[in-house]
Parts: sequence; C-alpha cells; structure tokens
Amino acid sequence: MRLAGKVALITGAASGIGRACAHRFAREGCRVVLADRDEATGRAAAAELGEPHLFVTLDVTQEAAWAAAVARTVEAFGRLDILVNSAGIGIGGDIETATLASWRLVHAVNSDGTFLGCRAVFAPMKACGGGSIINMSSVAGLVGDPDLPAYCASKGAVRLLTKSVALHAARQGYGIRCNSLHPSFVQTPMVDRMIATAKDPDKARKQIERAAPLGRIGEADDVATAAVFLASDESKFVTGSELVVDGGTTAR
Ligand code: NAD
Repeated sequence: MRLAGKVALITGAASGIGRACAHRFAREGCRVVLADRDEATGRAAAAELGEPHLFVTLDVTQEAAWAAAVARTVEAFGRLDILVNSAGIGIGGDIETATLASWRLVHAVNSDGTFLGCRAVFAPMKACGGGSIINMSSVAGLVGDPDLPAYCASKGAVRLLTKSVALHAARQGYGIRCNSLHPSFVQTPMVDRMIATAKDPDKARKQIERAAPLGRIGEADDVATAAVFLASDESKFVTGSELVVDGGTTAR
C-alpha cells in the first residue's frame, strides 16, 4: 500500500503503459481517475478496477477538457496528489518524408498535452501541500531515431519541460515534484501497431526484442512499477530527474 490515501489522474489510461499504471496504482491503495480520449476502452479499463476508481473523457490537447477532468477528480475524491501524463502518439517518417501535419499532431498530443497537464494540476496539488507529476518521455527523448524525428523532438521537449516544472515548484516551495520516465520498447498496442505496419513485421519484432541488452521487450508493468516509486513518498528527494527503464538500451 505504497500509495495509500493518494489520488491519481492518469492520462492514456485506456491502454498500454497508462492502463498498467492504473492497475498498479490501484493495487498500492491509490484512488485512480483513468483519463483517455478513447471513451469505450477507457470505461472498460475503469470497470475492470471497479469502485471507487472512475473514468473521465479527456483529449489532452484541449485546455478546457483538462480543467473539467481535474475538477471531476477533486469533486469525486476531494484531492489530487499524482498526475501521470502517459497519453502519447507516434507517427513514423524520416525528415524527408514526414509532413508538417504529422509533426504538429505528434507535438499537440505529446508536448502540448503534457504542458497543459502539468499546468492544470498545480492548483489542486498546492491545495494538498504537494504532489508528484510523472511525464512519460522515452529513450527517444534521450537519443535520436532516424525514422521518428517528430516523436523524438516531442519526447525531448517533455524531458526539459519536466525539469523546468520541477525547478519552478521547488523554488516556490510547493512540495510538488516532477520527473520524467524514459522507457525503451514496451509491449503495448502502440508497439503492436508499429510492428504490424513495418515492411517486414517478423524482422521488426526480432529487432525490437534484440534492441535491449537485457534481451527482451519491456512489459508495461516494468514502467508502472517505476511510476509507483516516483508517485510515492519514497522518492521525496527526487525531482527534475529522468528515470530510464530500458533494459540497458541507452547504456551502450
Ligand atoms: P498506447 O497506444 O497503448 O496507449 C496510448 C493511450 O493514449 C491510448 O489509450 C490513446 O487513446 C491515448 N491517447 C492518445 N492520444 C490522446 C489524446 N489526445 N488525449 C487523450 N488520450 C490520448 O501507447 P503506450 O505504448 O501505452 O504509450 C504510453 C506512453 O508511453 C506514450 O506517451 C508513449 O509515447 C510512451 N512510450 C511508449 C513506449 C512503448 O514502447 N510502448 C516506449 C517509450 C515511451
């Protein structure tokens, strides 16, 4: 019960890493608001957890929707201690083939969405005397990928947004911490789609499995357990940091 008494808002909670965080947080005693733009899948994910956990529809690119999701969380549970910004998208295409429209869409969700989320939770977290914001970056926010320029740039933005938010909160003495998480390939629907649309899906899967020195693809729960640490008071001296969960991928 490492998160007992706490309330978390988790975006992208209908699927993959966000969903795994919702499950893991609930098991640690946290009351969870699952947020996603995919209403049907999100409601089903929340129903799996049962009461008191609940679902809110949220498109993270919409400022007004953020205000409504935060208000619903505080209305339901009276507080907000943890935000996990996990909603994200990736669109392939090297710098010669990527379009401005795809660049803007990736940034709208990954960077603008994370910015809006960080801003939206400050008031309720200040009212609680502190909180923990966890921003889902990626190893693609640390090193480049020739086929994902927009994704890498957006995840790099998340990494430094995180440090700026952390420093502001520290300077103000709010008790709000902000850290980024950097997974490598994790077995989720996002990666399934990437493999399915590759020229040679079998080859793509094998490459992904071989990418990490630990010799396997990550599990969503590998990331969720790291998120529990950042969300809990165990990490009370950790802010502005980047926690890499990549099976050693970026160590070489
Ligand atoms: P996923 O596709 O399984 O889940 C992403 C969720 O985000 C979906 O439920 C989707 O509906 C939601 N979403 C997308 N756009 C949204 C929007 N505008 N508003 C609200 N919700 C929206 O993906 P995942 O693999 O679980 O990825 C979660 C996060 O982890 C992403 O930020 C991703 O970039 C990051 N990440 C994933 C991997 C990986 O290998 N899977 C690796 C590193 C980082």
